[in-house]
Amino acid sequence: MVDKTNYDERTPYQLPFPKEAQQEIVIPDAIPDDERLWVPQAENVWFRPLCLNRSQGYWMNILRVRKSGVLSRHRHPQPVHGFVLKGRWHYLEHDWTAEEGGYVYEPPGETHTLVVPEGVEEMMTYFQVNGVMCYVDPWGEVLGYEDVFTKIDLCKKHFEEVGLGADFVDQFIR
Ligand code: FE
Repeated sequence: MVDKTNYDERTPYQLPFPKEAQQEIVIPDAIPDDERLWVPQAENVWFRPLCLNRSQGYWMNILRVRKSGVLSRHRHPQPVHGFVLKGRWHYLEHDWTAEEGGYVYEPPGETHTLVVPEGVEEMMTYFQVNGVMCYVDPWGEVLGYEDVFTKIDLCKKHFEEVGLGADFVDQFIR
C-alpha cells in the first residue's frame, strides 16, 4: 500500500491525468526562424499559429506585419488579449498606442481600425482572439469574418504549399 504521508515538495503528482484531458502544447520557437511557419494572411501580413482552440473557439497567434498603414477595420463580439513583442500600432478609434512590451485588452463590442505607423519596419503582437473577428465597413456592415476554423484552413493550405503537409497544423489544434 502506498504511504500517502511519505512525500515532500519535490514529489510529483502521483495520479494519471483525466482520461479526456487534451495534450499540452509546447513550442520552443514561438517566434520561428523557419519562414514556412509564418502563414500569410495578406500582403506583408503573417500569423504564427500557437494554439488553434476549436473546442473553445479561440486562437492564439503572433501577428507579424511588415508594412505601414491600415491593416483592417473589424468588430470583436468577444474579448481579445494582446502583448506587443515588437514595434507599435494604434487604432483610429483610440488615442493610445500599443508599444513594444505593452499589453492590451480589447473588450467585447470593440470595433476598431488597426494602423501600423510610418517608420515601423516590423510589428509583432501575440494575440488571443476569441470567437470571431468581423471585418466591417465604417458603419458596421459585415464584409467578412475570421474564426478558428478559417485560421485552421489558412494554415492547412499554406503548410501544404510549403511542403510541410496540411497535417502540420494538427499540433496546434485543441
Ligand atoms: Fe482588434
